[in-house]
Amino acid sequence: LSDRLTSTFKNLRAKGRLSEADIDATIREIRRALLDADVAVPVVREFSATVRERALSSEVSGALNPAQQVVKIVNEELVGILGGESRGLRFSKTPPTVIMLAGLQGAGKTTLAGKLALHLREQGHTPLLVAADLQRPNAVTQLSVVADRAGVPVFAPHPGNQSGVEVDDVIGDPVAVAREGVETARQRQHDVVIVDTAGRLGLDAVLMQQASDIRDAVQPDEVLFVIDAMIGQDAVATAKAFEEGVDFTGVVLTKLDGDARGGAALSVRGVTGRPILFASTGEKLTDFEAFHPDRMASRILDMGDVLTLIEQAEKAFDAEQAAKMAEKVATGQDFTLADFLVQMQQMKNMGSMKKMLGMLPGMGQMREALDNFDEREVDRIEAIIRSMTPAERDNPKIINGSRRARIARGSGVTTSDVNQLLERFAGAQKMMRQMSRGGGMPGMPGMGN
Ligand code: GDP
Ligand code: MG
Repeated sequence: LSDRLTSTFKNLRAKGRLSEADIDATIREIRRALLDADVAVPVVREFSATVRERALSSEVSGALNPAQQVVKIVNEELVGILGGESRGLRFSKTPPTVIMLAGLQGAGKTTLAGKLALHLREQGHTPLLVAADLQRPNAVTQLSVVADRAGVPVFAPHPGNQSGVEVDDVIGDPVAVAREGVETARQRQHDVVIVDTAGRLGLDAVLMQQASDIRDAVQPDEVLFVIDAMIGQDAVATAKAFEEGVDFTGVVLTKLDGDARGGAALSVRGVTGRPILFASTGEKLTDFEAFHPDRMASRILDMGDVLTLIEQAEKAFDAEQAAKMAEKVATGQDFTLADFLVQMQQMKNMGSMKKMLGMLPGMGQMREALDNFDEREVDRIEAIIRSMTPAERDNPKIINGSRRARIARGSGVTTSDVNQLLERFAGAQKMMRQMSRGGGMPGMPGMGN
């Protein structure tokens, strides 16, 4: 994507609004990126429309070119949507807090049960796992193994014994098991119960009915819809089916350690509006973390490098100072040594992004300047300018031989360093005067090109 976006990074403007053509060109690339990331088509369409509207009404920033600005808006919107109403687990005021897991088979529910249990136990909670997946013979065993690893007890059905002994050939009523499991947690004063449920490979009515019966039986505080990040375009249909069939209060995205770009996250958010609570990033119980909207946004856009560049460009560029400078130039006011220092400092900030400038066309000139730029030079210049009196700063012409010697002594440099600075400044001043007649400001970040 970066390559494609880069090709739209052009036509730098100094003021005004973003042009419709600039915006549309960039949005076309963004739309392609979202589809590549398997975000569902209707979600992409709606998202693009929102971004377009916002971009059309936004002012042009001094630090960014139009494509960068649209990307910035896209990123902000993405982070906003992914993190909107973001929250942690909701605990019940009257324990136990009941957490029910729902989702397709293989989504990662049982694994998540273990991860959540470990996470909660580490926070001082006393979770009990309930094996309400009686669909597959070994499902109960699998949950028991996971519970063992997490160091928490499990409640599983056993003929004539409901004390939590695991069995292999389970037959029974998952709704009853769920209900008894929660009841047991209450009696044994566990403060959290996690109910693992069955999933089928595809959506099916029987499964959905069972999940909804379990929900009615245990009245969960949270129903977490567990979805595999690799599900791609099916995310919307699956999320909708679970929303209608069981309804859920939050989402957990699994298998984020794989190649999937995570478009499912945006699809599920876009379609259901439910918050994404956690991300699962591996098979180990510790591969579990809170969901980070910003990381997800850059993963979906697959352009972390471009976003970093945008961030740095903005940091390096103090819009206010630039505006002041631009006004000085425009009104033909004199460019002073203080302005010169500010310009140098901006160059220094930009120095840290030297390497990345190669990504942007039209930055060749800037890069050349930076290549010849020594950061220590700024410190030296600053020292020299600070050793001048205000009168000298305003009117360097008065700086004669004895003043030069005094400034050199004061700033710990040689007289010839002072001479050199004054020459460079005179050159810059001359250039600024020419530009106040001519227009743009070459060499200044974000202004002209
Ligand atoms: P369930 O059918 O929904 O209970 O899914 P499981 O918890 O049994 O997980 C199905 C498979 O996916 C197992 O092999 C898990 O080890 C694996 N799995 C679960 N979560 C993750 C994850 O975040 N990353 C990876 N790589 N594998 C996972
Ligand atoms: Mg399972």
